[in-house]
Amino acid sequence: MKFENSLAFARKLDRQDSLASLRKEFEVPKHNKKPIIYFVGNSLGLQPKATRKFVNEELDDWASLAVEGHFNGKRPWLYYHKFSKKVLAKLVGAKPLEVVAMNQLTVNLHLMMVSFYSPTKVRHKIIIESGAFSSDQYAVETQIRSHQLNPDDALVELKPRSGEHTLRTEDIITAIKKNGDQLALVLLPGVQYYSGQFFDIGKITKAAHEVGAFAGFDLAHAAGNVPLQLHKDNVDFAVWCSYKYLNSGPGGIAGAFIHERHRDNSAIPRFAGWWGHSEKERFQMKKGFKPMDGADGWQVSNVPILSSAAHLASLQIFDSTSMAELRKKSVLLTSYLHFLLTELDSSKNLFEIITPSSSSMRGCQLSILMKKNGKKVFNGLVKKGIHTDWREPDVIRAAPVPLYNTFTEVYTFASVFGSLLKG
Ligand SMILES: *Cc1c(COP(=O)(O)O)cnc(C)c1O
Repeated sequence: MKFENSLAFARKLDRQDSLASLRKEFEVPKHNKKPIIYFVGNSLGLQPKATRKFVNEELDDWASLAVEGHFNGKRPWLYYHKFSKKVLAKLVGAKPLEVVAMNQLTVNLHLMMVSFYSPTKVRHKIIIESGAFSSDQYAVETQIRSHQLNPDDALVELKPRSGEHTLRTEDIITAIKKNGDQLALVLLPGVQYYSGQFFDIGKITKAAHEVGAFAGFDLAHAAGNVPLQLHKDNVDFAVWCSYKYLNSGPGGIAGAFIHERHRDNSAIPRFAGWWGHSEKERFQMKKGFKPMDGADGWQVSNVPILSSAAHLASLQIFDSTSMAELRKKSVLLTSYLHFLLTELDSSKNLFEIITPSSSSMRGCQLSILMKKNGKKVFNGLVKKGIHTDWREPDVIRAAPVPLYNTFTEVYTFASVFGSLLKG
């Protein structure tokens, strides 16, 4: 599409937007009585209006049924992890058997590494990206240490080429081949939290498998943002949180994917709990863990119902459309933002967009590396009711999301950003 730098053009795109009515499903905070421009759905998604109703229904069942709510509630608590399966499977491109909502993201990452990182003398290395999200770094480092190994030796961190901000797929594959039979696991993001780069999950997984390693992905910034096909791509495992693009509320319940081919492989270790035990025998409280089939068998504890209710409220909005439709709008929204920002400073004197310029290599988010006055511009935006986020040392992340952001908001953001740059 040929974009134009005008409010009239942005409004025209909004009129042509077939998903525009979804914005009404969300609570948008106000600033001076006007809705703020919220480009931080990559950090905490807005609250769906249905969330309150879903959570209240569980509070009502608890009040009126108490323990019987496990069996007789509107959505019986005993089976709660099943209610999100179908939509989650669609979102990440999996079979329902391969996904489960459980725990929190970093906890799930640890559980998956218990299963998919069993280092031997030779095969003991993990590849991650340099500058990985802190929690992932700590998880990987402490997992390595728990096997009495040294991260200085076992951890391989991939850096972009000098002068570049994102990793080239070819360089990732070269590193995988180079580490060969020493490589146990490749653990990369779906979408990198800082740069916004969308990784080639299929190619990376294939390369990992060719050297005999597992491939796992942290989809914190990918789930609900970009189309995924975890089953088809043969990914071994993936984990994600639900409070970013999945709009399920602060600290919301996370998710995990384990490929079908690992479903009953007893050679794969796991840390078990009663909620992963065979449903038929769970309450017999007997010795000897018998896992449920598929991802359910990785559950540990019983389901946190209130955060799962919020999760379901949000997932029904995703179910009313499709990732394909959302992606179509998202590509247009973010491309429009990219176009407007590039017009402001084509010589890159004041800032540089470090997110890949090709739509297929990014999601909603653009990461704007500020060359001067970064924090001042960021604070100026907040004063005008425009919310992005600041990542040290010098990046503003802006993520217009297709569920509730508009082309007019993108236009307004770019023009205010432009005037703050000058001022
Ligand atoms: C948001 C995010 C986390 C947060 O982890 P929690 O366990 O949910 O607190 C971890 N890793 C990545 C890559 C993230 O983007």
